[in-house]
Amino acid sequence: MIAWDGRRVAVWGAARSGVAAANLLADLGAKVILSDPRTGLDLAGLDPRVAVRGGGNVLEGATVLVPSPGIPPHTPALKAARAAGVTLVSEIELAASVARAPIVAITGTDGKSTTTEMVGAVARAAGRPVVVAGNIGDPLSARVRDVGPNGIIAAEVSAFQLWSCGRFVPRVAIITNVAEDHAEYFLGDAAAYAAAKARVLADLQPGGVAVLRADDPIVAAFPTPPGVRRVLFGAERRPAGWGVDDGWITGDGTRFLHADELPVPGAHNLYNAQAALAAGQALGLPLPAMLDGLRTFRGLPHRLQPVRVRRGITWYDDSKATNPHAAAAGLRALTAPFTVITGGYEKGLDLKPFVDAVVGRARHVVLTGPTADRTERALGGHVPTSHAADMADAVRQAAEHAREGESVVLSPAASSFDAYRSYSHRGQVFQQAVAALPD
Ligand code: ADP
Repeated sequence: MIAWDGRRVAVWGAARSGVAAANLLADLGAKVILSDPRTGLDLAGLDPRVAVRGGGNVLEGATVLVPSPGIPPHTPALKAARAAGVTLVSEIELAASVARAPIVAITGTDGKSTTTEMVGAVARAAGRPVVVAGNIGDPLSARVRDVGPNGIIAAEVSAFQLWSCGRFVPRVAIITNVAEDHAEYFLGDAAAYAAAKARVLADLQPGGVAVLRADDPIVAAFPTPPGVRRVLFGAERRPAGWGVDDGWITGDGTRFLHADELPVPGAHNLYNAQAALAAGQALGLPLPAMLDGLRTFRGLPHRLQPVRVRRGITWYDDSKATNPHAAAAGLRALTAPFTVITGGYEKGLDLKPFVDAVVGRARHVVLTGPTADRTERALGGHVPTSHAADMADAVRQAAEHAREGESVVLSPAASSFDAYRSYSHRGQVFQQAVAALPD
């Protein structure tokens, strides 16, 4: 690992992960220059030893660069820095290099946050000190030193954080699945996106464990280093590893937990739970405690979150379903017929998974945002649709179409940046509109 003491290091991007990385580097004795194209930065909590530059990204002689995950690999300044021999170090890589507790790193297109929280839940239930951090919330650099060797660190890591890693060493790596997403960031190069996901496995050490979704052909084909154990999980009955048998989660063929015991709905959450159990087992956590942790698992907001029952109709917020693959998983967890509010920022993703989960199952689809027309065409007239001007209008329309005993779900299948600050902002706007409907 790089010796940080006295080394000049550039950190690009002064958002939360940049500030956390800069603080950690300052603690390790590096001379840190934190820069950002913006000016007038709000740098609350920044270590006073860090030098700050606004109005552009600078190196100022640094030979190591920690880039913000928001900077895509093809960014000219980044390419120029690499061509000049500057070493890229990802923020998660920096954090992991000082961890004293084993890290469970969780990545994948969908289910990262839920699985990360589930790993935290099973570890907590087993009585271990736990840090849950990374892409899910607090930067790993800010939290990594909060637990000692007896602790467990559940780290959600995204493709944006993985691609720039030089050496990232978790004890256990989980890949939930790989589907189409983030085409803009990787310039439409699906292989580069998949390679970034696979990057989480590359530095596993002998004795490390790779927890892989068996029925995802891309994930199952990812290579692992010699001496790394591969534990598979997924939908089918499976004599070894984690499977599903008649609604039960099985481990090596033994039934351990029924879907009804898991407070979060849907087949996808069975897989997320399997992955968490596999990770916990790899770290030697006792199974009964882990199962208790899952039985009391509370789902995260905006992930198929029930928000209101009104006139016999249940309203769900699945705003975090920011691509068609995730949206489909949420929709398949619902009993048909249901009414869907969909649409958002246009990433140009294939809508087929969404269409397959909707046709023959949805009573009505309310279309919003820039993806509305393309979604309508993709549905091909097989489901009644209507267009809404904004979220309040969409909620009003959905309320008119849904019938007693059914449900309504916000299932965007798209990012939120067309009209909202984030998926959580979109979810809040939806929830407020639902709350405002008269009783
Ligand atoms: P991520 O952090 O990868 O975005 P989340 O756990 O926040 O994943 O879940 C986001 C959405 O993805 C959920 O609302 C649900 O619709 C869907 N989802 C969750 N787990 C899975 C899974 N294992 N496979 C497919 N879709 C999933």
